[in-house]
Amino acid sequence: MREIGHFIGGKAVPGTSGRTADVFQPMTGEVIGRVALATKDELHAAVANAKAAQPAWAATNPQRRARVLMKFLDLVQREYDSLAELLAREHGKTVPDAKGDIQRGLEVIEFACGIPHLLKGDFSDGAGPGIDLYSMRQPLGVVAGITPFNFPAMIPMWKFGPAIACGNAFILKPSERDPGVPMRLAELMMEAGLPAGILNVVNGDKEVVDAILDDPDVHAIGFVGSSSIAQYIYSRGAANGKRVQAFGGAKNHMIIMPDADMDQAVDALIGAGYGSAGERCMAISVAVPVGKEAADKLIEKLVPRVESLKIGPSTDPSADFGPLVTREALERVKGYVATGVNEGAKLLVDGRNFTMQGYENGFYMGGCLFDEVTSDMRIYKEEIFGPVLSVVRAPDYHEALRLPTEHEYGNGVAIFTRDGDAARDFASKVNVGMVGINVPIPVPLAYHTFGGWKRSGFGDLNQHGPDGVRFYTKTKTVTARWPSGIKDGADFVIPTMG
Ligand code: NAD
Repeated sequence: MREIGHFIGGKAVPGTSGRTADVFQPMTGEVIGRVALATKDELHAAVANAKAAQPAWAATNPQRRARVLMKFLDLVQREYDSLAELLAREHGKTVPDAKGDIQRGLEVIEFACGIPHLLKGDFSDGAGPGIDLYSMRQPLGVVAGITPFNFPAMIPMWKFGPAIACGNAFILKPSERDPGVPMRLAELMMEAGLPAGILNVVNGDKEVVDAILDDPDVHAIGFVGSSSIAQYIYSRGAANGKRVQAFGGAKNHMIIMPDADMDQAVDALIGAGYGSAGERCMAISVAVPVGKEAADKLIEKLVPRVESLKIGPSTDPSADFGPLVTREALERVKGYVATGVNEGAKLLVDGRNFTMQGYENGFYMGGCLFDEVTSDMRIYKEEIFGPVLSVVRAPDYHEALRLPTEHEYGNGVAIFTRDGDAARDFASKVNVGMVGINVPIPVPLAYHTFGGWKRSGFGDLNQHGPDGVRFYTKTKTVTARWPSGIKDGADFVIPTMG
């Protein structure tokens, strides 16, 4: 049994609270570890440590800070296979999918390696007589990231990469379900040359999250998780005067126009709907075919594909997806399928009774497919976060545009069409943060920004890309006048350059 403590002040330390959470191996259902749940005092000690280390790191020039990240990239490459196996073991996703999780995190680290350029301020020469004006971006001090179970490598890297590159010290509170990879990433950052105290991992649950929210020395919090918790984090953190960005759940629609290439659309739906057992915030969970003909054709092609999905243990590289993260998650998703049946949706493929031979205690279920789902049903309104796809038939384009626009979530959306006019109109009008045109999972690359709208995102800056740098820095603007530009005498009028 692996005991996982915290990573504070540059080393792994055991927890002192006496409280722990079980870490499961979803493919077998076994408990493979126990993670410590930190107290408020343990958090405050980590923050004090980080606060003491941060000024020297901020004073280290950005090029040297970037070199630590460059070295970290090499070290993660060295351990790619073992990290992916560890990730798959604790999360349940397949090893190839786990590699993608790591890769999308590394891409943000690569972006953050450009920090000397990204931190350059603006300069206005001769803004007035003898006056120059310039701005600089300075780190905030100690900042924190609170991350979900579903991308235990990618999302921590999205948070700590830019924050540390900007000169902050970082407290990471990863999900208690799969803390192994975040702990290993912190060790690798140390090996890459990061000074002790700049990246700390404090494991825990609500107790430690509340301590982060209330600690006056934590100046910004980047959260990713479910919407109700995101809203809570945003409200309490902001009420305490912190900068907060809190990304929440999703219900991502894919519109299939009558002119779409139906085979391409079905391939896209299968991968985006069922990959990672649907446990992705950018998973497609609603398919919206436009018109009866498109809907019938879609269903005809989709049913055999869902029926033949290959479910397997995380170690099977040929599996389409693995088990869900916990038994509780499995029961919740099956509960939603029962709700859908009771609400009158047509369950065309029922994966609830799937069992994995040789892995009978694992948290598996097969893919489920609903047709004739309507917008008043709970299975349409709520995030299921499992391998369940709902088909909502739209009579025309306007209804297809209305559905994601009026849904309370606004993370991602996709339209499949050959019609450039329709695609352009859709991208411009839909009330959702990230749009794919013939791309089912439009996760922007590291040098753009990632963020959902409505209940999918609280706060006003996105993750990574230029917004990541903005979020983890504050702008200082200097107005400088040198003696030759100074006229004698006091001036009681507000200064203008006129
Ligand atoms: P979660 O909300 O249960 O947990 C997220 C984090 O919050 C974890 O670190 C957890 O320990 C902490 N937490 C849980 N309950 C808390 C409470 N009551 N008070 C304070 N902190 C608490 O989410 P999850 O199940 O780990 O992840 C899945 C969710 O994350 C889904 O809703 C998914 O859509 C969302 N997600 C969103 C994005 C995005 O970018 N929008 C990305 C990935 C996942």
